Amino acid sequence: MTTQVVTHQIIASYADTTSLGSITVLHFSERARLMRALKASGVCLLVACVCLCIPGAHFVLVPLTLLISPFIILRIHREKTRISHAEISCAKCREPLVVLATQELYPLFENCGACHREIKIQAG
Ligand SMILES: [Zn+2]
Repeated sequence: MTTQVVTHQIIASYADTTSLGSITVLHFSERARLMRALKASGVCLLVACVCLCIPGAHFVLVPLTLLISPFIILRIHREKTRISHAEISCAKCREPLVVLATQELYPLFENCGACHREIKIQAG
């Protein structure tokens, strides 16, 4: 199971203002992606087992969990990269920008928590 941690530069832009920052991304190998998918399937089965203990609601929750779990597992298996950490400031107000842990597909769009502007993030 190999997961590479790669850090590189990114550029946040809003209108004609920009700011520079860095991003740390996890790159999953095929084996790591398979292991993550197996862990997700275990969690889905665990949730289904816990739902068995809820009287009445288990008639809905257990089949629903088992029906949704293949889609969750497939989505996790398709994820080749994941953002683990980003240090960048908002291009408009210069406050620190929170970048959510998603797949690394540029351009990313994040809303600033301070000025509520949509900031475009690109690879630098
Ligand atoms: Zn801002």
